Amino acid sequence: MVGSWFKRWRTERTLQRRAIPDTLWQLTLARFPFLRLPGADDAARLRDLSTLFLASKEFTGVDGLEVDDAMAVAIAVQACLPILHLGLDCYDGFVGIVVHEDAVVARREVVDDDGVVHQYDEELSGEAMHGGPVMLSWRDVADAGESAVDGYNVVIHEFVHVLDMRNGDADGVPMLPDRNALDEWVRVLGAEYDAFCGRVDAGEETLLDPYAAEAPEEFFAVAAEAFFVAPLEFRIEHPALYELLRGYFKQDPAARQ
Ligand SMILES: [Zn+2]
Repeated sequence: MVGSWFKRWRTERTLQRRAIPDTLWQLTLARFPFLRLPGADDAARLRDLSTLFLASKEFTGVDGLEVDDAMAVAIAVQACLPILHLGLDCYDGFVGIVVHEDAVVARREVVDDDGVVHQYDEELSGEAMHGGPVMLSWRDVADAGESAVDGYNVVIHEFVHVLDMRNGDADGVPMLPDRNALDEWVRVLGAEYDAFCGRVDAGEETLLDPYAAEAPEEFFAVAAEAFFVAPLEFRIEHPALYELLRGYFKQDPAARQ
């Protein structure tokens, strides 16, 4: 078992040598209050995971944007919140994180049934792809403390897509422990998604961004944002979905508030 011994040794060494400095850690928690975990074990685990995340990922700024330590830590800690009890292995499938100053306008094309090509612009604050990289708009990441009241968080959104893609395409169904868990997931998420689409079509005001009605994978990612950054409001509006996500992430964010 030399391999696992070596891995443990390397992990220990990274945690000692590359630990996130105290001041930077405290500043990050002050800036993004939803990252403040009341349990000492959870808080220490989040910090260790973030250190290991920083050591294993590569950050690239686009158009001269310099990704400094504070920015990298802000992204790392938010990315590690969903996997607090799932493990960093969940993010083994990619290395690169590409950071833009602001949202990116992507030119999209769709071909309709008559073969006519329609072009349109889509504004992206983030994007996750199979094998990476994960793209993020720094402006949206930086605003995450303030936008938490709206249940909005771009880092959690994109990294939940990464979790979703571990078992193939992003389809709103992540890797689950067994057949029962899978049946339960499809039943609960499917019913919640259909009901949500109905509310959006009816023009109702919703806690979750109407963008979630786009597809089941977007519904999963948007719901996970609210689950972590506005858990009390989310639990009131979606009690069954809250329970489903609590079981999957093995966390109870509403109980932390
Ligand atoms: Zn998305």
